[in-house]
Amino acid sequence: MTSSSTTATAAFNELIGLADAPRMPDIGDAVVLDDLAKTYRDGTEAVRGISLRVAAGESFGILGPNGAGKSTTIGMLGTLVKPTGGRAWVAGHDVAAEPIDVRRRIGFAMQDVGVDGFATTSEFMVLQGRLHGLRKADAVRRAQLLLRVVGLEEVAGKRVASLSGGTRRRVDLAASLMHLPPIVFLDEPTEGLDPRSRGAIWETLSALRRRLGITLVLTTHDMDEAEALCDRIGIVDRGALVVEGTPESLTSAGAPTLEAAYLHYTERQAA
Ligand code: ADP
Repeated sequence: MTSSSTTATAAFNELIGLADAPRMPDIGDAVVLDDLAKTYRDGTEAVRGISLRVAAGESFGILGPNGAGKSTTIGMLGTLVKPTGGRAWVAGHDVAAEPIDVRRRIGFAMQDVGVDGFATTSEFMVLQGRLHGLRKADAVRRAQLLLRVVGLEEVAGKRVASLSGGTRRRVDLAASLMHLPPIVFLDEPTEGLDPRSRGAIWETLSALRRRLGITLVLTTHDMDEAEALCDRIGIVDRGALVVEGTPESLTSAGAPTLEAAYLHYTERQAA
């Protein structure tokens, strides 16, 4: 074991100690959608009644073409978008009726990181922790540990605005974990990143799942990403869930790869 992975392991272990034990109360499924729908004010039916369940500790991918309703769906789960139909529960709390309870239990990492250009990485992380009610000293320690866990200690003192897109995305991911949430939502976590940065995010996410038992729900239109990260995938098209299952179960003799299955299901929908 290299010394850097030893430090990351020690940091993980200390973080696990900080997280509430047990990690996840027995609430049944981590995420439940029941006929969840969103029609925007202009009449766009972005999500037309999606029902699915994500078990605690599972990694679930919402896969679909642009405009399918992925961001709207994950936005509703993250309490950023108000549903207009159906219901959803996250960590046992209704997203519409109990948004504050939901927010306490989730991390949300987005494509466009709206971070303060003047703050350093560690200031940004500490601010996120303070927003979640952590005391300053606790927030500082957690920021240190999380940056170590994601291998970003060297950028702690650098201004966020000066970082590359991939590094900013990893900083945003680490910041979304400051309150050690059991469930993390990611909207297109590697969109627009080069392969090396994409790989670094994948490794970070896999390690977080393995080490902290976090439930992940992510959107993507990248088949490789879905295969690399997800236990189960739901393919959405035009606001509806077309099919769901493990990556293996979605493939068949007629569609031997996930890409072929995706084209099969989304084309059938388009026909
Ligand atoms: P995806 O994430 O799969 O690309 P989105 O959820 O972003 O899909 O969008 C689904 C549909 O809803 C698209 O037709 C999009 O143009 C529309 N849409 C998204 N946000 C809004 C909004 N704020 N107002 C009106 N229409 C929207």
